[in-house]
Amino acid sequence: MIPIKTESEIDVMAQGGAVLATILRACAALAAPGVTLLDIDATARALCKKYGVEPAFLGYRPDGASHPYPAAVCASLNDVVVHGVPYHRQLRSGDVLKIDMGVIYQGLYTDSATTVAIGPVAPLTRRLIASTRSALEAGIAATKVGGHVGDIGYAVERQARKDGFFVLRGLTGHGVGYELHEDPVIFNYGKRHAGPVLKEGMVIAIEPMLAVSSPDIVQNDDESYSSADGSMTAHFEHTIALTSHGRRVLT
Ligand code: MG
Ligand code: MG
Repeated sequence: MIPIKTESEIDVMAQGGAVLATILRACAALAAPGVTLLDIDATARALCKKYGVEPAFLGYRPDGASHPYPAAVCASLNDVVVHGVPYHRQLRSGDVLKIDMGVIYQGLYTDSATTVAIGPVAPLTRRLIASTRSALEAGIAATKVGGHVGDIGYAVERQARKDGFFVLRGLTGHGVGYELHEDPVIFNYGKRHAGPVLKEGMVIAIEPMLAVSSPDIVQNDDESYSSADGSMTAHFEHTIALTSHGRRVLT
């Protein structure tokens, strides 16, 4: 069952999403050599307080997780693509940091992620980050009322392939709003005109996760996920609503 949000709920999600975007931008701006992953998490928590939103990941326990999530952001470095738990590690020039965050505002969830290059990074890494951003844009452009969920994954993977990179299998986007993760599952690959039909009032998180040279993932001891071959990864995510006026990026 894919939940349908009212226009006024989507307006509230847009307000929460705007705050989330502000917090993510601040965290990304802070990310520099010498700053720790814990500093970034502390900033995210402080800004949640300042702006009157709740961090959605803190205390979140998905099915199969061994314990509740202990931080406001996921901070995933280099080959780690998602669910990296912030720790005392200092950022270094050449690192690639993925910051993923959700907030709850007036009971409604939004979800977004960005990738930050720390200092100068290799040209291949720069291309990977640009390709992942383009894949998100392609996925958003393929999101329309009357279209299919498969159109989104098709567009995402087409961009990744065109650029010579790999969509990481087994990690997906999702519906979002009343909960952090709702139906439908948004794969980063797919067939056009396949899967559920996109309808007005649906809100989804599209989140391409790409790697340089592997489509496979491995799970680490802290429950984060890495590319199986250790190659560099990138991740971008937005929350998007389907409205009577077309698609609306909320984050
Ligand atoms: Mg996210
Ligand atoms: Mg998400």
